[in-house]
Amino acid sequence: MAIATTNPATGETVEEFRAFDAEEISARIGRAAEAFEEYRRTTFAERAGWARAAADVLDGSARAIADVITLEMGKPVRQARAEVAKCAKALRFYAGKAEGFLADQPLDGNAVGAARAYVRWQPLGPVLAVMPWNFPLWQVIRFAAPALLAGNVCLVKHASNVPKTALRLQDVFLDAGFPPDAFQTLLVGSEAIDGIIADPRVVAVTLTGSEPAGRSVAEAAGRRIKKTVLELGGSDPFIVMPSADLDRAAEVATTSRTQCNGQSCIAAKRFIVHRAVAAEFRELFIKKMTSLTVGDPADEATDVGPLATEQGRRDVEELVADAVGQGAEILCGGRKPDRPGWFYEPTVITGVTPRMRMYREEVFGPVAQLHEAEDIGEAIRLANDTDFGLGSNAWTTDPAEQARFVEDLQAGQVFVNGMTTSYPHLPFGGIKHSGYGRELADLGIREFCNAKSIWVG
Ligand code: NDP
Repeated sequence: MAIATTNPATGETVEEFRAFDAEEISARIGRAAEAFEEYRRTTFAERAGWARAAADVLDGSARAIADVITLEMGKPVRQARAEVAKCAKALRFYAGKAEGFLADQPLDGNAVGAARAYVRWQPLGPVLAVMPWNFPLWQVIRFAAPALLAGNVCLVKHASNVPKTALRLQDVFLDAGFPPDAFQTLLVGSEAIDGIIADPRVVAVTLTGSEPAGRSVAEAAGRRIKKTVLELGGSDPFIVMPSADLDRAAEVATTSRTQCNGQSCIAAKRFIVHRAVAAEFRELFIKKMTSLTVGDPADEATDVGPLATEQGRRDVEELVADAVGQGAEILCGGRKPDRPGWFYEPTVITGVTPRMRMYREEVFGPVAQLHEAEDIGEAIRLANDTDFGLGSNAWTTDPAEQARFVEDLQAGQVFVNGMTTSYPHLPFGGIKHSGYGRELADLGIREFCNAKSIWVG
């Protein structure tokens, strides 16, 4: 895939970028390794100061950065600005918390014949991040903020369709005063990744993206015995029980399924509704999905913009056609509007069975599957009948049902009566084919640290 900025709202390529050659890649890794030797000795206070400054830079240039995001991947500009603001918050969160999260952890010295025993958390070195385009700033910050605060340095291979955002982010860290080369953007295609992982100066790798990309990176890292964190796709269930506030649930269902133009890993994708309220929920949901404004993402009034790539829209069309061809029914949407750009209408589809591809695969576009369940047992069975296990969402005011969902949903997170969202304060990640490891919160900052056990006699 060429490294280029192409406006998904028009299909026009705005600028192409030259990929780094092998020599340049090696030089950049060398600069990262050198930078680490000094950077790891900086204090938490210094790093927190730079992180707060980076947050200020983001806040100060939020409009301009949001415009770049919208130009490159097509998310409505209001959502792009919210993404920038969220990144600033995460930087401030880790600026305030990192030292506490990584404080020496006392252990029972007596039990092991030591005068003192504890764990010290130490940075590992240059960490490679392979990142996706859907939240092109947030996905990177959610890795980089904890990594940098811990004392690691970052090499980011961003998705090939968001090079301007990637380069802009590098400038943010420089402008904030981070040492040069503590954060570098590598303009490289995915074919360069194996070689970068093989480089002994790169110590670990994190990837957010599709399952095939995750497999490939994990294999390459496994061969070199390097730590990985994988945040892959999801097909999150959204369960609605009779006691739920149906209007609120339908509102959140609509936002969840269509935010980022339907291209979010933790979007609710499979809506599983108790039979007793299925008809009412269906009507509310269709009404809200059809009232969304689809249009130019640069327009403040737009709710849903184009899909990020032409191939992405083709994938969605194929999944819908496969389901309809085998008897599924489209309740609204299901078409691409007659206009330039890679738009796809917000869609609700029902009658999806296990034989259809979309029952098992992630639909990365604004397409909601509606299922009915007879009782909570069937709802949970349907929810768990997937290879994914990222987020999940349940709507009920019944405490016993809430407890059952918390216990039995196979997912990295369960949100009850609210939208599944990532917060700096909560660990984020998946199980099953959605990946492993955790980002954010205290667990996230420890992923790329050496938990060094210390025994002092
Ligand atoms: P990819 O997984 O292909 O891209 C994500 C990142 O991985 C990009 O930087 C990409 O680089 C890189 N990459 C791709 N293949 C490899 C590889 N073999 N080795 C190393 N790096 C690789 O996502 P797509 O953009 O192609 O989207 C395809 C599907 O992935 C979506 O339909 C969706 O299901 C899922 N996805 C999930 C995301 C999530 O948040 N969990 C985010 C994005 C996609 P390059 O851009 O140069 O190809």
